[in-house]
Amino acid sequence: MNKVAVVSGGSRGIGYGIARKLQEKGYTVYIIGVKNRTESELSSKKYSGMNYINLDITDYASVKNNFKEIYEKHARLDVLINSAGIVDDKKIKFMTVNSWNSVVGTNLNGVFWAIKCASNYMINNREGVILNISSVASKKAVNGQSNYASSKAGVEALTRVAALELAQYNIRVNSISPGYIDTDMLSNVIGIKEIIDTIPLNRLGRVEDIAELAAFLISEKSGYITGQNFIIDGGVTL
Ligand code: NDP
Repeated sequence: MNKVAVVSGGSRGIGYGIARKLQEKGYTVYIIGVKNRTESELSSKKYSGMNYINLDITDYASVKNNFKEIYEKHARLDVLINSAGIVDDKKIKFMTVNSWNSVVGTNLNGVFWAIKCASNYMINNREGVILNISSVASKKAVNGQSNYASSKAGVEALTRVAALELAQYNIRVNSISPGYIDTDMLSNVIGIKEIIDTIPLNRLGRVEDIAELAAFLISEKSGYITGQNFIIDGGVTL
């Protein structure tokens, strides 16, 4: 199988877990990260067999050029995972232009640029799967997350419109809304123990929990599902 997958945010956390899963299933995997990584880091076991692309997902021209290169090399682009995301919590009173723009720019605009560029190539081949990583923050209000929650609600709305527009080309688009998942993103959150007390299943989610659901939503087994959002949160939004 020579299918090709691109995973934004594939250098760490949830995106990395999904990228590994895709690699196990035989995909040629491209992972996107914003950090400039050294050769020795990229040749380490962690990234073995993966192709790293260093780009800022908010930069449309760069997304466009890199996706074009991938398509020109393989003549296909089968799967797009949009997992790149950031948080920068501030209450509305203290929200800065930079905090608003960087969070919405990465989490929402970045997803849009990637969908716009990848879907062009998927349309050529009349086949594709797009999976966006949203968040339960789109549903559950948390102090300081006006920028993050808005970006994720936007991702879910975008998922529905993209699914509607692309269904005629045999392209499915879905999203996953994780609860609290044990990645670097949680490392700056104060009071993790108190947070765990609010989770009915009484633990943080694991990257593997999300990767398993992602694998199903990418596979043929979910071939009749499109435009949907799937919450996976240990019951935190119940
Ligand atoms: P991490 O902080 O572990 O990883 C973030 C990833 O996004 C990294 O690969 C990072 O690249 C990449 N990234 C950030 N900004 C850019 C950018 N401008 N251009 C390209 N890549 C970028 O996050 P998680 O894995 O935890 O989160 C993944 C997704 O899941 C996010 O969308 C997040 O909002 C969502 N999510 C996470 C939850 C959690 O509890 N962890 C809960 C709900 C949703 P680099 O390594 O180069 O910095």
